[in-house]
Amino acid sequence: MSYLHWFEAHANKHHAIIVKLLMQKMSKEAIIDYFTFEKMRLNEPDFCPLYGDCQKCHTMEKLNCYLCACPHFRFNDEGIACREGITYKSTCAIDSRKGRYAVFENVAHLDCSLCTVPHTEAFIAKHFDLEWKHLMRACLEHALKA
Ligand code: SF4
Repeated sequence: MSYLHWFEAHANKHHAIIVKLLMQKMSKEAIIDYFTFEKMRLNEPDFCPLYGDCQKCHTMEKLNCYLCACPHFRFNDEGIACREGITYKSTCAIDSRKGRYAVFENVAHLDCSLCTVPHTEAFIAKHFDLEWKHLMRACLEHALKA
C-alpha cells in the first residue's frame, strides 16, 4: 500500500471513530482518553494492524494512538532532499533528536521508532483537532509535491 493510500484509508477510519464518539457527546478529554492503546485495541481492533498481536509501535507505558501518524513527518516518494549522494524520502519537520535515518541503496527513510512525541496526551491535547486530516495537512502537501 502506498503512503497516499494508507493516508486516505487511515483518515477515513479516524473520522468514523470521531463521528461515533461525537454522537455519544464525548468531550475532548474523553476522546483523547478513548484513543489510549489499551482501549483502542479492545474497542477498535481494525484501527491498527499491531493491535491483533497486542504490540505497541513505541515502548512507552501510556501510548496514545490519536496521532498515528505524526504531524511532523514529511514524506515524498520523489525525495525531499539530497545530501552527499543520498536521497532523503522522509524527514522530521522539527528535527527531533529521537529521529534516525535508515539508509539502503542511497535512499534514506526516517525511523521514528525511538520518538514518542506524537503519542503523548499532552502533545495531542495541545494540537487537538477533531479532523485528523487537518492535523496532517502539511504531511499531505509534501507527499503530493511533484
Ligand atoms: S522523529 Fe518524532 S517528531 Fe519527528 S516525525 Fe518522527 S515521530 Fe514525529
